[in-house]
Amino acid sequence: MAVIIDGKKIAQDILDEVRAEALRLKERAGIIPGLAVLLVGNDPASRIYIRHKENACKAAAFFSREFKLSQDTSEKEILAIIRELNRDKKIHGILVQLPLPRHINPTTIIEAIDPRKDVDGFHPYNLGRLFTGNSYHMACTPKGILELMDRSSIAIEGKRAVIVGRSNIVGKPVALMLLNRHATVTVCHTKTQKLSLVTRQAEILIAAAGRPEMIRANMVSDGAVIIDVGINRMDDGRLVGDVAFSEVLEKASYITPVPGGVGPMTIAMLLVNTLNAASGQMPKQK
Ligand code: NDP
Repeated sequence: MAVIIDGKKIAQDILDEVRAEALRLKERAGIIPGLAVLLVGNDPASRIYIRHKENACKAAAFFSREFKLSQDTSEKEILAIIRELNRDKKIHGILVQLPLPRHINPTTIIEAIDPRKDVDGFHPYNLGRLFTGNSYHMACTPKGILELMDRSSIAIEGKRAVIVGRSNIVGKPVALMLLNRHATVTVCHTKTQKLSLVTRQAEILIAAAGRPEMIRANMVSDGAVIIDVGINRMDDGRLVGDVAFSEVLEKASYITPVPGGVGPMTIAMLLVNTLNAASGQMPKQK
């Protein structure tokens, strides 16, 4: 029977540490970490995420600015706000909530953010730094996955890691992070053949496909570490992950639940990235 990794508690511990460090930074250097959040349109899930981020900023004694923009805001208007925030000395992190309305090109918007303030880690500069193994801001969900494993004393070096999913925000960056930590990494996707043969090789299995309960017990080896990134809302309102939790629980050594596993770590890592940007604890830009 696996140990269930309590992401909620680990995230709360991190938020407490971030708050203590933010208060020290204010005391020592008069700097209050500042995060700007831009929401364009009325996507209900995005509104909930934004509210959680605002609350986390308050709890961590951060300064925050929210921009709630209407669905028909132009790309030009958003770019003007980003340029202003890039110059704003009170702001150390800028987050544009995705997805954006269809008339706005997300690449144009992300590339307009100063990479030092790109606390989501999506700017090509930050992705390039991750690629070269010399990370600057790392994407929050993948960074949170590694933090969960580190804080649960799960070894990464030398392990066979399999990731199901190759998106730019989860699958690919987590693959690079694990590779940078000396795991042997395989990335699966919809064209992968005999998926269960590959997943059964995994000592660390990361499910990030967005397919409810697709990872069944017969796809998992005994004693594997199972990290479930999926968040799937079922018709009856339940939230389930990409892993069939109750059956995989019996075989795994560690497992993250949904909700309460990876999810809470994303906001915690956003605050960590913002704190690091504010305190200047980042590698110098070349
Ligand atoms: P995307 O839809 O962008 O990517 C899904 C990936 O999974 C794709 O690479 C796709 O392959 C692959 N995939 C889908 N179905 C299968 C399958 N049957 N077999 C093998 N591979 C498959 O999703 P995201 O990466 O954005 O998100 C993944 C999940 O994680 C979602 O449930 C999302 O809600 C959740 N999530 C959770 C976060 C958190 O904070 N906990 C943050 C971000 C996401 P292909 O490339 O071939 O299409």
